[in-house]
Amino acid sequence: MSHKPHILEFKPSEIEQVIKAQGYEPYRAKQIIAWIYVKFASSFEEMTDLPKGLRAYLAENFEFSRLSIVTLQEQESDGSKRYLWGIHGDPLAESVLLEYKYGSTACLSTQAGCPVGCEFCASGRLGFQRNLAKGEILSQFLGMCGESRKRISRVVFMGTGEPFFNYEAVLGAIDMLTDPSTYDLSRRRVTVSTVGIPGAVRKFAEDSHGVRLAVSLHGSSDRVRNRLIPVNKVYPLDEVIASARYFARVTGQRITFEYILLRGVNDSREDAVKLAGLISGIDCLVNLIPWNPVPGIGFERSDPDVRNEFKNILERNRVKVTVRRRLGGNIEAACGQLRRST
Ligand code: SAH
Ligand code: SF4
Repeated sequence: MSHKPHILEFKPSEIEQVIKAQGYEPYRAKQIIAWIYVKFASSFEEMTDLPKGLRAYLAENFEFSRLSIVTLQEQESDGSKRYLWGIHGDPLAESVLLEYKYGSTACLSTQAGCPVGCEFCASGRLGFQRNLAKGEILSQFLGMCGESRKRISRVVFMGTGEPFFNYEAVLGAIDMLTDPSTYDLSRRRVTVSTVGIPGAVRKFAEDSHGVRLAVSLHGSSDRVRNRLIPVNKVYPLDEVIASARYFARVTGQRITFEYILLRGVNDSREDAVKLAGLISGIDCLVNLIPWNPVPGIGFERSDPDVRNEFKNILERNRVKVTVRRRLGGNIEAACGQLRRST
């Protein structure tokens, strides 16, 4: 095990300080940053326009191994790719690259396993190993850029894990990727999806600076939500909604409520009416998600006509609604359905 600090943990200004302290010109820092965030290098040796001495100093003092690909599956029908990343071949995290008409979207994991344990979610069923470091979150993204040779223009934190249980690392990774001197990703094209941790949602209203928020509801009563999402017993629905309302008001941004439709569980007309009432007055969009079947879990997806009726009720109550297109379904690559083991 190496105890050297990882270069992906360093902000551009910090890299500059390190370089200056060694007596090199500040533009050397810019070269290093370009190698990492523009050319997607994965070792210091590749940085051929740096003086040999500087390369040797960096290699001696900093870790620069990115997560490596353990498996990569591509779905030909829609071009989506599912990456399983590991350290020395040991699986650690999964991510998905989704292709849309308007560009490529990276769906990233924030934890190895998830401590929340939602009933319908493959990640939740696996248990929890640990939080991912900021560098490990960045590594998924940079690895996909390097492998796919695509300009990835959107990021969603909808892989394995609850982003707000790893708040600092997720925020740090977002700050890195959206820095104009690194990858310069637009903050408006980054979405953090949370199961609904009210304190963190309120804090995020101050820290988000344009980053979008999605809140996973999946129920319009505590009775239903308690059954699906264990942490609802700690953070009941009213508190989750109040924090979302606060976020939308303070940031002036439309938020998304995710709602997986599960047959006979949360898809009745009454559920839809209650949902519309609950979120009324919040600038929001409801994203209705067809459930991706997880082997061994006894839920079923709602029928299309039930889904349409649910959608109509929301719309009649002036709620904006979209239905998520299923991507990556055949290789189980859809966001929110990632599992660590292959
Ligand atoms: N922990 C966060 C983010 C990761 S899950 C959260 O729960 O929001 C991202 C989204 O995928 C969530 O809305 C989650 O409810 C959803 N999801 C989980 N399992 C799913 C499945 N089997 N089919 C469809 N969506 C799923
Ligand atoms: Fe964790 Fe989100 Fe899955 Fe729930 S839905 S278990 S919070 S990853």
